[in-house]
Amino acid sequence: MGLNKEQIEIYDEIEQTRKDLYKNPKLDTLFFELTDECNLACLHCGSSCSPEKRTMLPKEYIFKTLKEVKDAYGSEIFIALTGGEPLLHPDFFEIVDKINELGFSWGITTNGTLIDEEMAKKLENHHMGSISISLDGLKEEHNKLRRNSFAFDKAVKGIQNVVQYTKAISMVTTVVSKLNIHSLQAIYDFVLTLNVNHLRLINIEPIGRAKDEKEYLLDYQEMDELLEFIRIHRVNKDNKMQVTYGCSHYVDMYETLVRDNYFFCTAGLSVASITAEGNIVACLNIDRYPILNQGNVKEDSFVKVWENEFKVYRKDRSAQCGECKKCNYRLACKGDSAHTWDFMLNEPRYCLRMLEKDYCNKIQDLTIEKLIDNPNALEDIFSDDSNNVKNYGLLMKSKMIYPDLTKKRSTKTFYYTCLYGPYRLYQEDLNEKENEFIGKETLKEKDNDNKPIMKKEKKAKKKPNIKPMLRLYGPPISRRIIKKTKKHRRIKQNFD
Ligand code: SF4
Ligand code: SF4
Ligand code: SF4
Repeated sequence: MGLNKEQIEIYDEIEQTRKDLYKNPKLDTLFFELTDECNLACLHCGSSCSPEKRTMLPKEYIFKTLKEVKDAYGSEIFIALTGGEPLLHPDFFEIVDKINELGFSWGITTNGTLIDEEMAKKLENHHMGSISISLDGLKEEHNKLRRNSFAFDKAVKGIQNVVQYTKAISMVTTVVSKLNIHSLQAIYDFVLTLNVNHLRLINIEPIGRAKDEKEYLLDYQEMDELLEFIRIHRVNKDNKMQVTYGCSHYVDMYETLVRDNYFFCTAGLSVASITAEGNIVACLNIDRYPILNQGNVKEDSFVKVWENEFKVYRKDRSAQCGECKKCNYRLACKGDSAHTWDFMLNEPRYCLRMLEKDYCNKIQDLTIEKLIDNPNALEDIFSDDSNNVKNYGLLMKSKMIYPDLTKKRSTKTFYYTCLYGPYRLYQEDLNEKENEFIGKETLKEKDNDNKPIMKKEKKAKKKPNIKPMLRLYGPPISRRIIKKTKKHRRIKQNFD
């Protein structure tokens, strides 16, 4: 497998930007975890928040930090207020008044359950720019994950109030797990009726409380299903709602197809956060090991810490990791997201290569000959999971479409290709196939002799004419990368 020439050029540019940021970090987004208290105690909470926790970040340290940041970098920095449940902070509106007074724009991440009509109007009067509300499925799934039988109804009411009474850019965030992966379409259809601007789908991660809930993590095929769903639904027919993947992971062939930018974890490079205890950290999703605290706003100057610390994030962590060093994705992935990096063992905890390896291990005893001799073998193995039957279909399709190719490929490579589906052929046989992008949908087309037609993929739909998203759905990336991303989109269109 490998990247093509243009992709290598783009990743070289991204690498250069990354190196520039290692030397000259550029603060872009500052998160304040106002409290670790929450009126819910969700199964998958990345910060292990609950009603029992009560730490509030005192407003005077918030004011001090905001003033310092304004003096050092101006008011272009985006302020993201989160928790726990940020609306539980007793000085919430005093804090946003200060943010407004200093000229910053701001947004919140909330579970939505406390947003009644009055609260929505108040948020609007205090110039809230954007809001992300969590909805992890339809009623039953959401309430199960949230461990509260009223959570769904209250969150939906909160979203409706936001849409009705505020002008803020609205986003529903859904954490996709084994519990709700099969309801993606139902979730999408329901969220569409709420008239929000964005639906952000992110996979559940082995962090916080979800570290103990490994049975909910998505496997390779489910991750593929999620990304494919986002790719297809990126923009809906009426240009009403945009669907996007979070900043979470390097996603190989889905890069730029499921979000606007290439994967680039900017924790400690342009994203910083203050925890409810006042600790200065890179991103609130990263493990809360004391060793990763860079300082504390109760004692230190945030700006000094930002400019002189964060060294662990300002170097290529994949360079010291055995797994990463032998990984084909390293040039583009660079150790993946900091929030799934195990800083104690210095290795990734959950990444594309690991998912692929797990998947391979599951079926390593099957040879391609066995499959061809006994096509039911794969189905038997995965008979409890209808999704896996898809792979059997892909195997047959690959064989049908590429009889010549498959003849000359080694058994091992063919086996691998069959498992991962035809789009992997794009990577492996790029040179042979002259950069054809073989989308999954193209495989459905057949001519009169029932042979598949290699039809060009439809051009990407025009982006919806909706307000540009403030930076709530992931850290920003530099203009340089955005420029390059546009170039890459053009390259992709040329393939189509
Ligand atoms: S996931 Fe959000 S709503 Fe749930 S406990 Fe954590 S902070 Fe609260
Ligand atoms: S990818 Fe990086 S910036 Fe994004 S949530 Fe993870 S650690 Fe934070
Ligand atoms: S091993 Fe995982 S984290 Fe490391 S470069 Fe490969 S995909 Fe990225």
